[in-house]
Amino acid sequence: MVVDQMRWDFLYRHYSRYSKGGFKRLVNEGFSAENTFISYTPTYTACGHASIYTGSVPAINGIIGNDWYDPQLKRNIYCAEDTTVKTVGSDTRAGLMSPKNMLSTTITDELRLATNFKSKVIGISLKDRGSILPAGHTANAAYWFDGQTGDWISSTYYMQQLPTWLQDYNKKKMVNTYLEKNWNTLYPIETYTQSTEDDKSYEGKSRGEQAPVFPHPFKLYAGKNYDMIKSMPYGNTMTLELAKLAINSEKLGESGTTDFLAVSCSATDYVGHQYGPNSIEAEDTYLRLDHDMEEFFNFLDNKYGKGNYLFFISADHGAAHAPGMAAEKRIPGGTYSDGEVLKTLNKLFEAKFNIKKTIVTSTNSQIVFDHEAIEAAKADYNEIKRLTIAEFRKQAEVADAIDLSRVAESTLVPSLKMALINGYNARRSGDIYVLLRPGYIAGSKTGTTHGSGYPYDYHIPCVFMGWNVKAGKTNKTHYMTDIAATVAAMLHIQMPSGCVGEPITELTHQ
Ligand code: ZN
Ligand code: ZN
Repeated sequence: MVVDQMRWDFLYRHYSRYSKGGFKRLVNEGFSAENTFISYTPTYTACGHASIYTGSVPAINGIIGNDWYDPQLKRNIYCAEDTTVKTVGSDTRAGLMSPKNMLSTTITDELRLATNFKSKVIGISLKDRGSILPAGHTANAAYWFDGQTGDWISSTYYMQQLPTWLQDYNKKKMVNTYLEKNWNTLYPIETYTQSTEDDKSYEGKSRGEQAPVFPHPFKLYAGKNYDMIKSMPYGNTMTLELAKLAINSEKLGESGTTDFLAVSCSATDYVGHQYGPNSIEAEDTYLRLDHDMEEFFNFLDNKYGKGNYLFFISADHGAAHAPGMAAEKRIPGGTYSDGEVLKTLNKLFEAKFNIKKTIVTSTNSQIVFDHEAIEAAKADYNEIKRLTIAEFRKQAEVADAIDLSRVAESTLVPSLKMALINGYNARRSGDIYVLLRPGYIAGSKTGTTHGSGYPYDYHIPCVFMGWNVKAGKTNKTHYMTDIAATVAAMLHIQMPSGCVGEPITELTHQ
């Protein structure tokens, strides 16, 4: 299970309010690698899901962002886009997706290979990328949510039509049932003393509300804006409801061969983006997820028996504090926009080299040049890079600007150097990396985001529980890429084709 945007400290931040059978059970019955880090930047959703399941990094698996600039197509492409397939389960384009842009195998692929494709692998997430990338290239199915129709869908990459059990589930339109519940706090709001007060101007408002305060009017969206389910805790509840249904309907774990269900809970990310990790909304989302997980574990216990299934939890990335909250508490941080610098630089290059738009885009903290135009104009590429770096270094919010093809020669600290090298894919990445100071985000004045190579974004939970796992913890450094290597070692199957991780040997009885 991947919990989208879950920072490691969320295992403990609300510990005293967690129930016995959810996060507390994970920490007490499972093995927690407490210092597990993401070894690359940018720390975005697609990269995180790909890294956990490939045991690899963007340099090798090619998933360098949720999207990236493609110089051949002269546009941004989406990590899971695939125009050769069709949507299954709705008439929208939300199903034109597959894992074809991911360049190495996943641990789920390796399980399929190891059992000569007898193992079943299914991915489930509200987000297409949270389902497709974990399920891998050889998955039996990946399902995600179509916000336009309110149905769970797939693509012809996997199947020609949805299984009956999913068609029946879609007919119930459970999304409306959840939206109609509205979103009020689980406990009286005055008990949320671990979070910032509710009414803050730096929290984002939902459609149709006057202030970003409880109760949030999700009733308004029932039957209309299905996508809003992603921004409330019931988005996770619905995801786990579907996970249970898939386990029962597909008879996972009942054939005598190991099966793999890859679930991603995405609502935590949308809530985090809108309100920030210190908000009552975030606290309430984790308290509710904790209950949902307790129920999920009870379900698995009843179905398979304790210790007869292997469970792991991690996150695709963390998040920065909302810059508004940071400012209020005098924590370094803020927002940054590179729009003006890009304009200045493009004007300069036009005057100097007669190129109309040298910088085609800035994406994933990277500045992307038009290499075709630079070559055609016979302009000095090194001079363009030098001037770009110099201009960005003038910006107060920028710590440094780095030539991505020469990171090893830079004077960056080792952790950032490693992160940039691991995150750099020569075929897909941009030219210059703009490193903001800690706490600074490229983004709006409300809420927050992630993507950096700083601890609040790269320190993630990594807990294993169940089959052959002993209780305990370690503070030794581990990496996101170790998860797939660990699963491979435990199952006695081959590591994924681009794996750079190492098994977390401390956690098993073997
Ligand atoms: Zn994410
Ligand atoms: Zn996010």
